[in-house]
Amino acid sequence: MPKGKLTFDYEKCKGCGICVAFCPVKIMYSDKATLNKSGYNIIRYDEDKCIGCATCAMMCPDSVITVEVIK
Ligand code: SF4
Ligand code: SF4
Repeated sequence: MPKGKLTFDYEKCKGCGICVAFCPVKIMYSDKATLNKSGYNIIRYDEDKCIGCATCAMMCPDSVITVEVIK
């Protein structure tokens, strides 16, 4: 069971990849097929494997990610 559910404010994402680099379970990735309006690849994650640590949200410089912890 996933422990966290992520919401992305995709239009604010600059595709820097910091969230991808810092996710401790390495489940985040750049969606090479989907760009936001600014032309950056949006980020996706493996919804079943999230541990809800919120590291991605804390590291994102643009406050793109919100993590809801699932009890
Ligand atoms: S909350 Fe933690 S485990 Fe889930 S995607 Fe973000 S960094 Fe990875
Ligand atoms: S850290 Fe934030 S701005 Fe950078 S790729 Fe991840 S969601 Fe986008």
